[in-house]
Amino acid sequence: MNKNLLYRSIPKVDVLLENDTVTELIGRYSRDTVMEAIHTETDRLRKFIAEASNEEEAKRQIALLVPHIEQTVTAMHTPNMRMAVNGTGTILHTNLGRAPISEEHMRQVMALVSGYSNLEYNLEAGRRGERYSHFEKLLCKLTGAEAAMAVNNNASSVLLILSSLAKGGEVVVSRGELIEIGGKFRIPDVMEQSGAKLVEVGTTNKTHYDDYENAVTEDTKALLKVHTSNYRIVGFTDSVTIGELIPLAKERDIPVVEDLGSGVLIDLAKYGLTHEPTVQESIAKGADVVCFSGDKLLGGPQAGIIIGRKKYIDMMKKNQLTRALRIDKFTAATLELVLQEYLSEEKAVKNIPVLKMITEPLEDVEKRAKALARMLKSGKLPAKIEVKPCESQIGGGSLPLERIRSMAVTIRPEKISVAELEERMRRLPVPVIPRTANDTVILDARTMKKSDIKLVADQLKESEVLEKR
Ligand SMILES: *Cc1c(COP(=O)(O)O)cnc(C)c1O
Repeated sequence: MNKNLLYRSIPKVDVLLENDTVTELIGRYSRDTVMEAIHTETDRLRKFIAEASNEEEAKRQIALLVPHIEQTVTAMHTPNMRMAVNGTGTILHTNLGRAPISEEHMRQVMALVSGYSNLEYNLEAGRRGERYSHFEKLLCKLTGAEAAMAVNNNASSVLLILSSLAKGGEVVVSRGELIEIGGKFRIPDVMEQSGAKLVEVGTTNKTHYDDYENAVTEDTKALLKVHTSNYRIVGFTDSVTIGELIPLAKERDIPVVEDLGSGVLIDLAKYGLTHEPTVQESIAKGADVVCFSGDKLLGGPQAGIIIGRKKYIDMMKKNQLTRALRIDKFTAATLELVLQEYLSEEKAVKNIPVLKMITEPLEDVEKRAKALARMLKSGKLPAKIEVKPCESQIGGGSLPLERIRSMAVTIRPEKISVAELEERMRRLPVPVIPRTANDTVILDARTMKKSDIKLVADQLKESEVLEKR
């Protein structure tokens, strides 16, 4: 084959710039990015020809130059972060963004963040205010605490609390509570960063009151309890409750701090789940400082919420670290709206997506699963499609043993493997993330909204995802 001839048949830049599609792309995007794409794609084409052994294929690639330029420019202007369908059944899926925020709340936040707001401006006094002011009173009302603030996430809460209360001193914590909170972040490592020295007491499965009492010295600045929300030690176990630690802490005039992990404000037992200690209970038992995540069971934005005695919260507000860990206006606005829902438990369960998903009756989940199966079956796809019972889980390191009865659509492809189908679903324009097991792809309807159902069905029917390629 005559490679020189092939190279010469690649359209020159000035010719490409007169092509209708290319001029249209320049109008829609920018001349700079179109030029960049032209160079990227013609370089790629030259390399292809250099290595080609099949002339027909080389000619085909040359003919595809303009469509390839279009794809490249479009990709440059398309956000990489996009919506996805969560078919995994894991409600708090950290990799998929943890707690979804309701559309209604987002509409209200949009008005606040697309213009100016009183984020840190006290409208009554006409001077600088506090960004926590929008939700501090509300948090106190809901939890019974004296004061409250919020930082970037709950790992930040632990860092700030220990840095403010125990820097240069010791903090006593049970060995059974030295957990990894995900992504390789461990409580002991976070504590070390704070400048507080960790004093570990007890053993993995048992810690007694005496262990704490013997560990307290002149240098002890706080007693820390960590709610082991992401795992359970079962069997021969013993731990000391907050209530038991309070007298010891009072006697030494040091605070008891509790990291609750997931911040639950409602009693989940009412909805058929295992009772998870609530934030209110922790305060009522006498914890001086309590922290929890904004985007776990609370169902709000990513945040670390810190509540407790005013004298301690004031110390944290004055800590220089607070400036580095502060929440932004998106979070402050969303947090206030989500917390307001908790003024009525009925509203919270209805309007906060995480709580709604957890408490949704099985019949309603089943309706969506059946609708999806019906839509898929009408497409006569080469797959066995069924509606089957399954179990959803909370995820996000919350209630690890809890399983919620749910309904799923199972897809057993006839022409391709399950692994192949799973990968193709991930690559759809709106990616669909399923669970797989026993030669089937499983789509749990509990974590899929009504609008997701049609989206999944349309994409699976239109894109020949189930066909051999
Ligand atoms: C999840 C968790 C954290 C970390 O919270 P983030 O908001 O993810 O930073 C800290 N402590 C406990 C006990 C947790 O469960």
